[in-house]
Amino acid sequence: MWVDFHMHSTASDGVLTPQELMAHARAQQVHHLSITDHDSFSAYEEREQWDLGDIRITVGAEFSTQWNGVGIHVLAYDCDPQAQCMQDLVAHQTDARQQRALRIAERLEKQGLVGVKEWLDQRGIQRYIGRPDFARFLLETQQVKNIQQAFKKHLGAGKAGDVKQSWATLESVLQAIQESGGMAVLAHPDKYKLTNSKLKRLLVGFKALGGIGMEVVSGRQMPDRTEYLGRLSTEFELLASTGSDFHEPGKAWCELGRQSALPSTIAPIEQALKSA
Ligand code: AMP
Ligand code: MN
Ligand code: MN
Ligand code: MN
Repeated sequence: MWVDFHMHSTASDGVLTPQELMAHARAQQVHHLSITDHDSFSAYEEREQWDLGDIRITVGAEFSTQWNGVGIHVLAYDCDPQAQCMQDLVAHQTDARQQRALRIAERLEKQGLVGVKEWLDQRGIQRYIGRPDFARFLLETQQVKNIQQAFKKHLGAGKAGDVKQSWATLESVLQAIQESGGMAVLAHPDKYKLTNSKLKRLLVGFKALGGIGMEVVSGRQMPDRTEYLGRLSTEFELLASTGSDFHEPGKAWCELGRQSALPSTIAPIEQALKSA
């Protein structure tokens, strides 16, 4: 039985619409999932039209936050998207994303990249906009060779396009998640490139703020990482979650529902999640 609690649709930077994502999940025989778009629940607005078959759905989103100057992603499950505190958080993040897009364009142009502001003017910022959109623009205008290079040279951590200071704080994100009835899970702990001791400090802080789980598995990963993160989830009493972080079909290391297995000795998050 495949489960997957981390994936993206066209409501953020995924390539499949929510409906297409459901068709793909059925084909992949995923029986319980959560769509976790960046800073948005809008995928769920059209859920009446989804052909679910036997699939269980848990409402979710992935919030961009900051903690001690590090960009940290937090998964929210079972929130009420209509709750005032959640609407305020989403509005804040949307505004931050739009303002950030303007700054990214400016900073990329200062680096000598061309046409970014003009492209952004024409595209507009009303629809979801993230760094992958800039990466695709740079690729289309042949200013980079591929998406990876766009991140490595211009958009990744510490580069000109890595503008992150406007996200809500970890504290305020966890507060809104809990106030709206939801549960907070730390996304992909391995992606932040933290030292072991700094990661433990993050887990202590996350737990103290009311976080209930962490991703022990994110996509396909090395067995030693699964084992290590599994041990941390036990040590810090955080439920173990699993997700592919799927954005598009055809990427073997993050195919929907095909992430590495959770260690069988660990309390999985699945039972704690509601299906709505
Ligand atoms: P943003 O939400 O605008 O900060 O963009 C972050 C998103 O960019 C992540 O969720 C990934 O989907 C994507 N991303 C980050 N790093 C890379 C990378 N090195 N290569 C490709 N996509 C990336
Ligand atoms: Mn993404
Ligand atoms: Mn993420
Ligand atoms: Mn994600």
